Amino acid sequence: MISIPDAESGKVYLVGAGPGDPALLTLWAAHLLKTADVILPDDLVSDEILGLASPTANIIPVGKRCGQPRITQAGIHDLMLEHVHAGSSVVRLKSGDPLVFGRAGEEIGFLRAHAIPFEIVPGITAAFAVAASLEAPLTDRARASKLILATAHHAAGKVSLTPSWSGAFPDEATLVIYMPGRDFEALAADLIASGISPTTPCTAVSGASTPNEHVHVATLGTLANTNVGPAPVILMVGPEVFQAKAQTRQN
Ligand code: SAH
Repeated sequence: MISIPDAESGKVYLVGAGPGDPALLTLWAAHLLKTADVILPDDLVSDEILGLASPTANIIPVGKRCGQPRITQAGIHDLMLEHVHAGSSVVRLKSGDPLVFGRAGEEIGFLRAHAIPFEIVPGITAAFAVAASLEAPLTDRARASKLILATAHHAAGKVSLTPSWSGAFPDEATLVIYMPGRDFEALAADLIASGISPTTPCTAVSGASTPNEHVHVATLGTLANTNVGPAPVILMVGPEVFQAKAQTRQN
């Protein structure tokens, strides 16, 4: 029997909700969801996962849902502070792992500055769910000795991936691009310009680990014509991507 403590009052938990499938939550995350007073979920957190919360929990979505304007980061900080000061236990629920493209640094800085006790609960990041779904190893003894988690977006706007790749790619790496955007033509051109071969396999996966999962197999050279599914979409590039499963799963 595993004993996991209940969510403590006056404390914030930065919790990873995984890629969507509730079965991919950690036991700790699931227990915190059941016992927290207040839950602040991002927009990618599924209703199924929120359904695990206590019926008495105060769930305050802090992503942009139903066309509502997105709450500011400062607004999220204020909510954490307000509820902790009211003596509640607060779960700040983020998709995937909270420390991967999750703005956790800003929240940790705020919590520290206000001397608010907090704990971080890891989750399964989208790259791991996609790799499992495609049956495509992220590393391989012969072909992929590096794993790069990257994004084409930055707080300051869209960034070119090109300069940072020199040397890291094309050989022996798997590159996973979070928030790839919709302009796959520009993205592919950027990667090819940095020296990655147009024949390099890549796969765009939409809604990994959810019932709406879509897999689109391409090469960098044909990526521009890829009709990716609805958000969230992630792109996996590298020699390990062309596994048999990825090709047969195309839809
Ligand atoms: N912290 C999250 C990433 C948040 S950034 C994590 O560790 O996974 C949001 C991006 O993550 C999306 O734009 C998409 O690129 C990726 N993503 C998250 N969930 C996904 C899913 N189920 N399927 C495909 N991509 C996903």
